[in-house]
Amino acid sequence: MLFTDLNLIKPILDALKQEGYEKPTPIQQQAIPEILKGRDLLGTAQTGTGKTAAFAIPILQNLTEKNIRNNQIKALILTPTRELAIQIEESFNAYGRNLKLRNLVVFGGVKQGAQEQSLKRGVDILVATPGRLLDFISQGIISLKQLEIFVLDEADRMLDMGFVHDVKKIVKMLPEKRQTLFFSATFPDEIKTLANTILRNPVKVAV
Ligand code: AMP
Repeated sequence: MLFTDLNLIKPILDALKQEGYEKPTPIQQQAIPEILKGRDLLGTAQTGTGKTAAFAIPILQNLTEKNIRNNQIKALILTPTRELAIQIEESFNAYGRNLKLRNLVVFGGVKQGAQEQSLKRGVDILVATPGRLLDFISQGIISLKQLEIFVLDEADRMLDMGFVHDVKKIVKMLPEKRQTLFFSATFPDEIKTLANTILRNPVKVAV
């Protein structure tokens, strides 16, 4: 299978070519068509499988096709660490280089001024770690009321790092009507329960 078999729009196919990607990885082959259809997804996948592109590519396409012109956050990717957050935003920048969507990453441990300025200019796709996201929400700088797509990345590491309470708090602020993508390498009971509470009739993908 090739990327051209996945019904992707030309600006994304061009970006993938520019990245030097030739073929979709197994998780990309399985997940991209389902996410494009708007389905919720439960993915069992580790880093290194091409998981980031598996969700970033169809999110970029879905948002481009919806063409919603508000200055609100339309996709949120929640991830446990600053390093992962930065990598994910770089992936959105790369695959979305020929699109008009605005991406931003926010994380803690640094002053919030620069992140705040960028948020105020308008963001379509936000990659965030839980603590800093909650800080911005509580200050009224971020609203998630217009969210279309929510990604919970590395859910099991969220649990290990003690972020599950924060994640649940964030989920409560999301619109009921949304698309949700949930990724974890392992599924201890607490993660299974969390997945059940936030996903609706998900497609299951494992690699
Ligand atoms: P990830 O599992 O998302 O951390 O991705 C692991 C690495 O694989 C990253 O460096 C990506 O740039 C790269 N990658 C993802 N998908 C593909 C692909 N289809 N072809 C070649 N490299 C890829």
